[in-house]
Amino acid sequence: MPDRAPQPVDRQLPTDEARDLISLVRDIAQREIAPSAAEEEDAGRFPREVFTLLSDSGLLGLPYDAEYGGGEQPYEVYLQVLEELAAARLTVGLGVSVHTLASYALAAYGTKEQQVEHLPAMLGGGLLGAYCLSEPASGSDAASLRTKAVRDGDSWVLTGTKAWITHGGIADFYTVMARTGVDGPRGITAFLVPGDAEGLSVAVPEKKMGLKGSPTAQVHLDGVRVPDARRLGEEGQGFAIALSALDSGRLGIAACAIGVAQAALDEAVSYAAERRQFGKPISDFQGLRFMLADMATQVEAGRALYLTAARLRDAGLPFAKQAAMAKLFCTDTAMRVTTDAVQVLGGYGYTADFPAERYMREAKVLQIVEGTNQIQRMVIARHLAGPEER
Ligand SMILES: Cc1cc2nc3c(=O)[nH]c(=O)nc-3n(C[C@H](O)[C@H](O)[C@H](O)COP(=O)(O)OP(=O)(O)OC[C@H]3O[C@@H](n4cnc5c(N)ncnc54)[C@H](O)[C@@H]3O)c2cc1C
Repeated sequence: MPDRAPQPVDRQLPTDEARDLISLVRDIAQREIAPSAAEEEDAGRFPREVFTLLSDSGLLGLPYDAEYGGGEQPYEVYLQVLEELAAARLTVGLGVSVHTLASYALAAYGTKEQQVEHLPAMLGGGLLGAYCLSEPASGSDAASLRTKAVRDGDSWVLTGTKAWITHGGIADFYTVMARTGVDGPRGITAFLVPGDAEGLSVAVPEKKMGLKGSPTAQVHLDGVRVPDARRLGEEGQGFAIALSALDSGRLGIAACAIGVAQAALDEAVSYAAERRQFGKPISDFQGLRFMLADMATQVEAGRALYLTAARLRDAGLPFAKQAAMAKLFCTDTAMRVTTDAVQVLGGYGYTADFPAERYMREAKVLQIVEGTNQIQRMVIARHLAGPEER
């Protein structure tokens, strides 16, 4: 029988350095992440030691300036790294994406003093970040958030509850959006809150359908005092910062989705070559061959779309519309492809003996986080048709 084991993805990479980087990441993914992924996801264990290894290997600050410990890689390279990590284990790929999102406000809007003081530890010093926008009563309508920050001398006092926080309880720093002024998007300010701040506590993590190794929890802020030196950007600029961070973050989610979809496709192709029915491998049946062909085509199309958005970003051009399209298309693709992978495996696909069912459960959350896919369609439509009438 011909060897039909999955081949590494043929990537378009801009430099030899980027090719070496992807090889390094594949090596870490195959040696340190993939072997324990199923068991640890089942047990709900977060692999902190993997994040320490990624930080030590320079992989936790890839798209940021080398001056502050970042890797100074273009987004088209950083996202392909995320894809490789997510293919091995979504908890890791998504975790790196969320850490990058949490570091964005400081890297893009912080003062020089703030960046010198905090960024090196965040980008390469083993710290882990969390991004706190959502609240129990404000998800899609994030601009209606209620967590308050009240000025008190040289400090701010933060009170409220953030919801659904990835890395809640294990993060070393939290980038928190809080209300400092009027209702709506203009009254929000961003703060960099240390994980051990007095008054910060975390609820029992949510019991989720998948992504169980990645803790998701409410974060309570009960009179947390934050010096003004930890305010990021101007007063009232926090919502604009949060949305700007999400434009880039959505590309991370798109890349993670393609990683999960690729892993599911590889699993389906391998299984179809091995499994025999009616006297031949099931991959000989046209019904399945066409399914595999459609899955592979969707994965390649998703990768091409997120890379187009990334290359616009790398060129300093507007990319928000394409980022929303990439998030929408790649996560819907991941849902379809992982569901089809379960189908290719038949009854075995529905069991935890094979990873296809885990990929399917993981794909679902990607249609929800960082703006649901309904919200992505609203963003895209606004670029086409202007804002909705109130
Ligand atoms: C595992 C996980 C990790 C997360 N991590 C983080 C994190 O680290 N930081 C963070 O801040 N948040 C995080 N979130 C929160 C996530 O961003 C929100 O769940 C998401 O934005 C949706 O908000 P919601 O859950 O309140 O749903 P809702 O906003 O209540 O939406 C419910 C439904 O209504 C739809 N809907 C809402 N408004 C409209 C509209 N105008 N038009 C059409 N449909 C609409 C939505 O698409 C959805 O289908 C995480 C969520 C999950 C599940």
